[in-house]
Amino acid sequence: MSADPTSASATAAPPGPDRYAVAGNPVAHSRSPEIHAAFAAQTGQSLVYERLLCPLDGFEAAIRDFVASGARGCNVTVPFKFDAFRLAARRTSRAELAGAVNTLRFDTEGGWLGDNTDGAGLVADIERNAARPLRGQRVLLIGAGGASAGVLGSLIGGRPAEIRIVNRSADKAVALAASHRAWADDHGVRLSAGGLDAPAPDGRHDVMINGTSASLSGAGLPLPDPDAPVLAVGGLAVDMMYGAAAAPFLDWAAGQAGAGGATRDGLGMLVEQAAEAFLLWRGVRPDSAAVLADLRRRLAAH
Ligand code: NDP
Repeated sequence: MSADPTSASATAAPPGPDRYAVAGNPVAHSRSPEIHAAFAAQTGQSLVYERLLCPLDGFEAAIRDFVASGARGCNVTVPFKFDAFRLAARRTSRAELAGAVNTLRFDTEGGWLGDNTDGAGLVADIERNAARPLRGQRVLLIGAGGASAGVLGSLIGGRPAEIRIVNRSADKAVALAASHRAWADDHGVRLSAGGLDAPAPDGRHDVMINGTSASLSGAGLPLPDPDAPVLAVGGLAVDMMYGAAAAPFLDWAAGQAGAGGATRDGLGMLVEQAAEAFLLWRGVRPDSAAVLADLRRRLAAH
């Protein structure tokens, strides 16, 4: 069942600041608590936001305990986005399309509401922060895991001319494209898929997004041939990873894009998806640009 997030009506609040968390395993590295604390301070909202480490075989029980303690919502990260999808009684249409949930709101009538804000976060970072409208662009999405599934619907919503999905396991890329075929047709977007060795059948792309975890594992570039032309001169490259882990991919992409090109790590997406979740929970949109700039300054200082 799909739901409009704005139609969720709040139930009675327990006393004290409202409780939220990021639920995952691991979660120690998560920047979400500081991002949401900054949003709360900025908007004058009374809330606390914690890290909730869930046992790999005990996500549902951990969430039910958290809700019983009066919690109002949570973000969900690796590896529980599909479990969260199953637990949600109602889901937004973008969560339905993604098949995964990264944001749960508990304080709604009609059961827990599941949303997926990853795609809106990525598109906001590309279109607003990087000032690169997707309309008419040729987009290459590398990876077909949970993160790529989470963002594809929103990328299509930006109405690029085409999206090519490539993945180490080509069958997963093909399946991801198939699950979004009708949505792409509705938006006039050409959607194709294949293996990593076939990134650009129609030439270079204007926007290239690395949605693999290759950087995280230190495997280097996700594409097998670093000399193959993939990104257009002046193009934009985004790695969903952020910080030092994203550097090898983004440095390589900068070489392909040349002068006028641009690169972004995943910090902007992270802050923007958090802003979407904050809006769903609190009904207030924070100034994400200010929080992103502050977070970048603090990370650079370390
Ligand atoms: P998954 O485990 O679901 O998928 C991993 C993907 O990476 C698969 O497509 C996999 O290919 C591919 N992959 C892994 N290793 C390699 C390699 N050595 N070479 C090429 N491809 C490889 O992970 P997620 O999709 O959930 O996450 C992907 C990345 O996105 C993570 O680094 C995560 O931190 C980041 N992310 C960032 C967010 C943000 O807000 N900035 C939000 C969400 C995720 P195969 O299918 O063949 O195994």
